[in-house]
Amino acid sequence: MKKELDLVLAPEVAFDPALLERELLQQAGITQPAEAVFIHKIKRSIDARGRKVQVKVRADVYLQTPDLSSITPTYGYPELKPDAKRVLIVGAGSAGLFAALRCIELGLKPVVVERGKDVRSRRRDLAAINKEHLVNPDSNYCFGEGGAGTYSDGKLYTRSKKRGDVQRILQIMVQHGATPDILFDAHPHIGTNKLPILISEIRETILAAGGEIHFNTRVTDFILEKNQMEGVVTASGSTLEGEAVILATGHSARDIYELLQARNILIEAKPFAMGVRVEHQQSLIDGIQYHCDGDRGPHLPAASYALVHQVPFKGQDRGVFSFCMCPGGFIVPSATAPGEVVVNGMSPSRRDSKFANSGIVVAVNLEDMDLKQYGALAGLRLQQALEQKACSAAGGTQVAPAQGLQDFVKGKVSASLLDTSYQPGLASVDMLEVLPPMIGQRLRGGFQEFGYKMRGYLTNEAQIVGVESRTSSPVRIPRDKETLQHPQIQNLFPCAEGAGYAGGIISAAMDGERCAEQVAVLVGR
Ligand code: FAD
Repeated sequence: MKKELDLVLAPEVAFDPALLERELLQQAGITQPAEAVFIHKIKRSIDARGRKVQVKVRADVYLQTPDLSSITPTYGYPELKPDAKRVLIVGAGSAGLFAALRCIELGLKPVVVERGKDVRSRRRDLAAINKEHLVNPDSNYCFGEGGAGTYSDGKLYTRSKKRGDVQRILQIMVQHGATPDILFDAHPHIGTNKLPILISEIRETILAAGGEIHFNTRVTDFILEKNQMEGVVTASGSTLEGEAVILATGHSARDIYELLQARNILIEAKPFAMGVRVEHQQSLIDGIQYHCDGDRGPHLPAASYALVHQVPFKGQDRGVFSFCMCPGGFIVPSATAPGEVVVNGMSPSRRDSKFANSGIVVAVNLEDMDLKQYGALAGLRLQQALEQKACSAAGGTQVAPAQGLQDFVKGKVSASLLDTSYQPGLASVDMLEVLPPMIGQRLRGGFQEFGYKMRGYLTNEAQIVGVESRTSSPVRIPRDKETLQHPQIQNLFPCAEGAGYAGGIISAAMDGERCAEQVAVLVGR
């Protein structure tokens, strides 16, 4: 027997585990909690539309402990048989790691090949970027164990409609140490301080079952036999062979796109988005979103926002939208090579920095690219040129070009800049000189509109930092809809964000699982 509850609660109850449990039991009519009572928290979402912020909570209270396997299933990773078939997985981002876990469930041996370092050793290279402006092309905010999602905000929401799969990924994360709140919150996130622990637990599961992980191993070539992928060649010249190759190298592996093109393996230019990151004081965003004076109190989480507007330029409307908003976070240098400046955002689990940042980007379509000159790499070249321009405009290091938000909209170079969370530092620059007009002019229009949508947002108490260019892959690696194999190359499974089939940690993880399942079909395990 269960009682289904749909409640509207004050934040101080909804975000306090003990008070919430008491409230749920009370609402279910249970005054004497018995041991058999089980609470299944289903959803918690903040409703800040009215003057008073409220929290919606949905939960089932079971009067007898139910069959837990149907509510919170646990997934097992048994030891692989010695003769398990080998599957090469290039990239240990969320796609690669979840492909590896799924391979184990399916009795296949994952061999993960990762150009970067393990999650702990990666930290030193991140410090070198922030403090010494040194970018290691194999170990940075995008490359290394856990991929681009490790030193991130760890936002776990996705627009994917396959809720079942989403819950499964979240549950596997909980099994590896993530807080169970991610199963319950409408906008779950983990935080950059907790993600490395989760990633290393996943690594331990893969190794304990008999999988392999090779760090510091960059793939530089493919072993192709009559249009059949047999394995990979690494930077040291060694080779690795397997029944199939899942290529999960993320959107920043430019050398992989170049390699595919050089080996005449079909790739295509793909629309993506570029722009800047905007940074406000978190208290300003809290004030706007929670209708308060900026002090959100001890219970409510740092407020976020999502904005979108269609803005014309030369008669063509394009979407200007917020991307990867990080409440209580930091702007981080996400370049993957020296001579370029790229920004992104991350935040700790408590989201308690005094800054709120978000990418604000403009859709870039195929007609904006020089397809004639650069073919499938036209979007990549546009992206690269912008990142290099941003770098030289700010002095050639990891210092990023920046401008007061209102100054940018008014077309005025900022006399001074504000305090920032971006560690390498900022240089005052006319961002319209850095950004192509189709992006810069639309951003101006977008920010103006956002100022109407969120009163107080358009201010010189905020600044824009450039450039936000790695929103998604500018290249697609085609694949068959059913088999997920490349249309020309058998046994090659283009996977997740780098191939153009995912955007974000969760959707990449789901795509990794799907590729592993199709490999299992192929090899008839
Ligand atoms: P990636 O995570 O990019 O992993 C690819 C891996 O392949 C890397 O580890 C790389 O080192 C490796 N690799 C590349 N080339 C080679 C090669 N030649 N040989 C061997 N290995 C190679 N998404 C969210 O959902 N929520 C967030 O809060 C969020 N915040 C982010 C913050 C930052 C700073 C960044 C950079 C990204 C963020 N993202 C976030 C995006 C998210 O990280 C990606 O969508 C996701 O990681 C994609 O997963 P993936 O496995 O497809 O690729």
